[in-house]
Amino acid sequence: MMVAAVAAGAFAAATAGQTLQATSSGDVTPLANSNDLNGAHGVGGNVAPAVPAVLPAVGSSNPQAEVREVTHSKQVTDARKQRVAAKRAAARRARQEAMEPDWVLPTQGLLTSTFGARWGTPHYGIDLAAPLGTPIYSVADGTVLEAGPASGFGLWVRIQHDDGTVGVYGHINSYNVSEGERVEAGETIAEVGNRGYTTGPHLHFELWTGEDGAKIDPLSYLAEHGVDI
Ligand SMILES: [Zn+2]
Repeated sequence: MMVAAVAAGAFAAATAGQTLQATSSGDVTPLANSNDLNGAHGVGGNVAPAVPAVLPAVGSSNPQAEVREVTHSKQVTDARKQRVAAKRAAARRARQEAMEPDWVLPTQGLLTSTFGARWGTPHYGIDLAAPLGTPIYSVADGTVLEAGPASGFGLWVRIQHDDGTVGVYGHINSYNVSEGERVEAGETIAEVGNRGYTTGPHLHFELWTGEDGAKIDPLSYLAEHGVDI
């Protein structure tokens, strides 16, 4: 219908003595072409035969159908917008997940003691028994607070993770990080030892809420971050 109207409009304009160039813009915007057509009518009003020939073409275009078509194309556009928005949201989630720190086990060992009361005295961490020299990993991205001797622990490393918690790695045999150094989750920071008050080679691992904060159950916290021992 619209094509017929454009053709008729072009014909009318030509008849009215206008150049075809004036109506060719109607190919881009059909609705604007209707205005051109009216314009042609006004300008060419003194050319009587052309006017009745044009009017039926205009009348034959169904305004309701046009409204439906416009509404439909709006719905299509909205659906496309929704799909694009959903894709963008998914990409944003993926980026956020990628930015969240990974958490890993501090070492591969046998869990021999959990957090809490042990033989009537509190145990502020977990014990993972492993052979001397077994690598110990930072459980998350962070910054080394301290690496060196510590009472009862023999040697320890303390790392402040990027979420503010502090990991304490005790009884270690040796360490290969120093204060202020950045470490990533899974990076080797030390080796399992038997220094301090121990009854055999193991890692004593504590998790604090902050540098001077309270001690929390490392097992629960690691589990919350997808790490099960
Ligand atoms: Zn312990």
